[in-house]
Amino acid sequence: LKLSEWNIARVAMEDSELDPQSSSDEHDSCSASPNQARHPDGQGQDHPHTPSYLRPPVAGRAQSDSGSEPSLTQSKCVEFDLPSPVSPSRPKSPWSLFDPYDNNEDQDKEYVGFATLPNQVHRKSVKKGFDFTLMVAGESGLGKSTLVNSLFLTDLYKDRKLLNAEERITQTVEITKHTVDIEEKGVKLKLTIVDTPGFGDAIDNTECWKSVADYIDQQFEQYFRDESGLNRKNIQDNRVHCCLYFISPFGHGLRPLDVEFMKALHEKVNIVPVLAKADTLTPTEVQKKKIKIREEIEQYGIKIYQFPDCDSDEDEEFKQQDLELKESIPFAVIGSNTVVEAKGKRVRGRLYPWGIVEVENSAHCDFVKLRNMLVRTHMQDLKDVTRETHYENYRAQCIQSMTRMVVKERNRNKLTRESGTDFPIPMGPAVSESETEKLIREKDEEVQHANHEQESHHDQEHEAPHNSEHSEPDQEKH
Ligand code: GDP
Repeated sequence: LKLSEWNIARVAMEDSELDPQSSSDEHDSCSASPNQARHPDGQGQDHPHTPSYLRPPVAGRAQSDSGSEPSLTQSKCVEFDLPSPVSPSRPKSPWSLFDPYDNNEDQDKEYVGFATLPNQVHRKSVKKGFDFTLMVAGESGLGKSTLVNSLFLTDLYKDRKLLNAEERITQTVEITKHTVDIEEKGVKLKLTIVDTPGFGDAIDNTECWKSVADYIDQQFEQYFRDESGLNRKNIQDNRVHCCLYFISPFGHGLRPLDVEFMKALHEKVNIVPVLAKADTLTPTEVQKKKIKIREEIEQYGIKIYQFPDCDSDEDEEFKQQDLELKESIPFAVIGSNTVVEAKGKRVRGRLYPWGIVEVENSAHCDFVKLRNMLVRTHMQDLKDVTRETHYENYRAQCIQSMTRMVVKERNRNKLTRESGTDFPIPMGPAVSESETEKLIREKDEEVQHANHEQESHHDQEHEAPHNSEHSEPDQEKH
């Protein structure tokens, strides 16, 4: 290969011919051999500050950072021994393992280098680590803690104290938080599990979802305060990204408490319903229950987490997987904290006199589908929806009510600056009342529009006709 064939080198050479005064620094990335005309002594190639990948390859060896490079001759056509020398303009990713340009076909092409952008993001995110907050809710005894331990292969409930029946009569819903740092292949995940012991345990369970809803709001509020404050660098994000809601396998579909809980929380958190202890049901029963629960979710207008639609250009296998995932709702799960031996293999499972139920066998339950969805495929989407939809709704409502308070206060006191709230709202004197009202109206419209879009998206997802004969669940029952 002739060096004169390199486009960049030629451009640099033409430049230098056009403007003999031009600084060699301007052409650092391509100055070496063509610019030898300006450096007959061979010094032109020695640019210690030029990254090695921007320097031309040297005859007889691949480019390297170490050692001095032999001087090139003044000739415009230099012969190289390398079969495919790296293009002088070829940017190199610092994440060399996944260098998008590390391809023989790309060797002599000219690039700007932005194909490395994903690698830069990857590198930064891996350094920073990831966090995820998962809430588990549902009646006690449905296998929540067992499932969480099975999902993340940890023992998060070592110190759990179980209450007896008497203690549970007046039990209020508690919120507990466990955090573990897990690391897999160099990637760190700070996992927070929020549990709701006592949910549905008391004799009177009226509004027992309230403390859960309050907890979610408190996390939003904290985040809102932090991001509106002065130091926004190290904000601790405790917003709940997903709530696994456990449905009993023993009922006939949803119980009134389930409906009430999900309806109270569906605009605050991504709800993923799961059918607990699926090993207590036959495969036909599981299917029937799933259909019934899906119908009821639709009928009561519950907006559970919607998997994003897959793009039309995805391959068939991916589309099939996506369809299967959507049809698995509610995920029929089995949990186990023990490892048993099945067909010569040690597996996580439940040993019964009549056989072994394997947690990770997709013929036995949807555990693997749920885990893949939560961890491998949709964790980021769950976080995005939390940020872009649930938190954004909370924030808009917060700003609206704060602005209303300011307007009220102003009207009452005829003050221009003091809001009377403990929250510093940027309201300069330049903003007239009519402008403020206009802002509120616009924000109202924005929220309504967002809600409308969410609803229409939800309606599209569930085009099955509503059965108007069904009534709301009898709330007296729980
Ligand atoms: P939690 O109160 O919802 O956290 O429930 P636990 O995880 O403490 O489980 C309550 C009981 O159910 C324990 O005896 C578990 O061994 C059992 N269990 C947990 N998961 C399953 C399951 O998938 N199938 C069956 N049959 N039992 C389960």
